[in-house]
Amino acid sequence: MIVVLLSPPGSGKGTQCRRLLGLLGVPHLSTGAMLRESVRTGSEMGKMAGSFIQQGKLVPDDVIVTLVKQRLQERDCEAGCLLDGFPRTVPQAVALDRELKALGRRQVDVALELRVTLEELIRRLVERARQEGRQDDSADTVVRRMEVYDLQTKPVLEYYREQGKLVSIDGMGSADEVFARIETQVRKYGSATGN
Ligand code: AMP
Repeated sequence: MIVVLLSPPGSGKGTQCRRLLGLLGVPHLSTGAMLRESVRTGSEMGKMAGSFIQQGKLVPDDVIVTLVKQRLQERDCEAGCLLDGFPRTVPQAVALDRELKALGRRQVDVALELRVTLEELIRRLVERARQEGRQDDSADTVVRRMEVYDLQTKPVLEYYREQGKLVSIDGMGSADEVFARIETQVRKYGSATGN
């Protein structure tokens, strides 16, 4: 099963991803984690991506698409994967569909959107900055990442809505409550697609 998880920064995506992986038993494909790793190791890609990440901007589509294409070709992704933070632009979504087709793989089964109020997003991000000290959780960067989400990623939700694959989930409440909602939806789509 191929599940896309799309939601604004601070929506609880990371926590829910960890739980969802246990349920799905597929590899985790997080472009944010892959990019942070390339920054940490100081690779060419990391040097280029670092400044985009720090400014809360999106890394160019061609870089991301190449990164994801390489990962999708690996054997462990044959039965599916959990796409976390990708696709974040419509061209990325189109490239994903094209690549899955070229590889003779199943298409995206479901795109999950976690919905959280702005007040709660800010509260969670401030808390995360305090606990984890992520460099891109500074106030300016957070505002930029939210703008980027509205401008560039919300159209991706429309892209999946038009394909009848978008499921919006209430992301308010405890992590357990949110996961119970996600689980219900994933089981529904999983059984509908035979996975
Ligand atoms: P995340 O951990 O998913 O919040 O990603 C952290 C940062 O990595 C983002 O703010 C972007 O700068 C970059 N990034 C992650 N995924 C993508 C993507 N699919 N397209 C472009 N930039 C990305």
